[in-house]
Amino acid sequence: MERKEKLYEGKAKIVYATDDPDKNILYFKDDATAFNGAKKGSIMDKGVINNKVSAKLFQMLAENGVESHFIEQLSDREMLAWKVDIMLVEIVARNYIAGSLAKRMGKSEGGKLEHPIIEYYYKDDALNDPMINRDHVLVFGIASGEQIDSAHATALKVNRILSEYMLERDILLVDFKLEFGSHKGKMLLADEICPDTCRLWDRNTLEKLDKDRFRRELGKVEDAYQEICRRVCGEL
Ligand code: UDP
Repeated sequence: MERKEKLYEGKAKIVYATDDPDKNILYFKDDATAFNGAKKGSIMDKGVINNKVSAKLFQMLAENGVESHFIEQLSDREMLAWKVDIMLVEIVARNYIAGSLAKRMGKSEGGKLEHPIIEYYYKDDALNDPMINRDHVLVFGIASGEQIDSAHATALKVNRILSEYMLERDILLVDFKLEFGSHKGKMLLADEICPDTCRLWDRNTLEKLDKDRFRRELGKVEDAYQEICRRVCGEL
């Protein structure tokens, strides 16, 4: 499958058309941004790792009954995916206190939540992706009730499956962000699942093995991404 015209370029990926109007090619870049683009940089081979990790996790989720846009990995940096209309709601699932939740609730990072928290964010860079609830989604016509409920239920299911998968690899799934898109009337998991979009801590040392190393300038960013790739994609 060949790359045709560029359809869209985002912060971390480029979307290309293909011969098939139902399929796109996603190209994973090394560019890294944080704080809604205010911090810019590059993480060596991040695109290769995020493509590989996302492919592995989408395959694993498919085996567990979660449908996604993933069709196949084409090369180091390219993934073939179903073309979807991205829903403008980002779904965040949380298992431990970290990041914006710690700030909002005035708590320190690391506490385990009694049960997972699901949050919705309106995907709008100009507004800085504000947190919204189901009523905002419906009243402002951002998605239908059926779409948001389906995404919510899938996020909880992904959280259960992914938490267990990570724990088997000595990784705590602290929190993560999912995106969904509609394809022929069905809501599919979309985008990517990788150290850019998940907080992943070593189970024993609680060392951060994710994009927080870049955001917070903790050093050893590439090492952390490689370690996650090794644990997620390697044999147990
Ligand atoms: N996240 C993401 N993209 C975003 C915002 C958040 O992938 O635009 C992920 C982030 O990596 C973390 C989770 O969503 O795993 C929760 O992020 P949080 O709300 O704590 O925001 P942050 O602290 O990253 O600003």
